[in-house]
Amino acid sequence: MIFRADTDQYESSLAVVLESSMFKALEMQEYAGNRLLWSLSEEERARLRPNMKHVTLALGQVVYECGERIDYVYFPTTCVVSLLYTMRDGSTAEMALAGNDGVVGIALFLGGGNIPHRAVAQIGGLALKMPARVLQEEFTRGGPLQHILLLYTQALITQISQTAVCNRLHPLEQRLCRWLLLCHDRLNGSEIPMTQEIIANMLGGRRESVTVAAGRLQDAGLIHYSRGHIKVLDREGLETMVCECYKIVDDELSRLVGAPQRSELNKRVPCREADGEAL
Ligand SMILES: [Zn+2]
Repeated sequence: MIFRADTDQYESSLAVVLESSMFKALEMQEYAGNRLLWSLSEEERARLRPNMKHVTLALGQVVYECGERIDYVYFPTTCVVSLLYTMRDGSTAEMALAGNDGVVGIALFLGGGNIPHRAVAQIGGLALKMPARVLQEEFTRGGPLQHILLLYTQALITQISQTAVCNRLHPLEQRLCRWLLLCHDRLNGSEIPMTQEIIANMLGGRRESVTVAAGRLQDAGLIHYSRGHIKVLDREGLETMVCECYKIVDDELSRLVGAPQRSELNKRVPCREADGEAL
């Protein structure tokens, strides 16, 4: 019986250790999914953890409406959120996108309170959410979180500015390459679930023009489009074709918040014959 009790105790202790290490591994995985949180020290992350919750943002889910009070900020890990402006006539254009490189809700810590644009999950997935009050308190502390949030804001300003310049000066085909690369950088795979109508809304172009531009990229063997999914077949090919705007945004982000740990899947995928699905 004593032996049995010892065994039980041993197994119980082992279970606690395993559970604890599994939880820690899971926690590390969660944080590793977001470049800003991953850049913090382990102590800093452990302190923030009780106030963060993993949530799923579904494709098309509105994270913030224009002018709405911000109750939570979101650190995307696998989802990608678009910051969009909708004009009075209903036409829409994307100003920037935020994925595992950033945070959604910067107006909260900048002091403005709300934002004059919408934030919509354009690629569904996971994010870590933190209550507004907690983030404001953390930001006021002036520690490493404040530092990385300010650096990210500078990188986001670069992305917004470069998007404006790109939309004004560069052809749709190059803008589509830029957008695909920015999305691809923020995903753990080569598949981008996306319809051409949504892409047209993102790029501020007409659907027909997006169909032509996407068709050219598919004919060149760079992407394959099928049933609302875009598969990147040749990332290096897209990098060759894209305008200078992509690299400016990517370089500035890496300089300010650190280089990404890109998944093997995000590296060059060998070109293959498209399956013949019509665009
Ligand atoms: Zn451009």
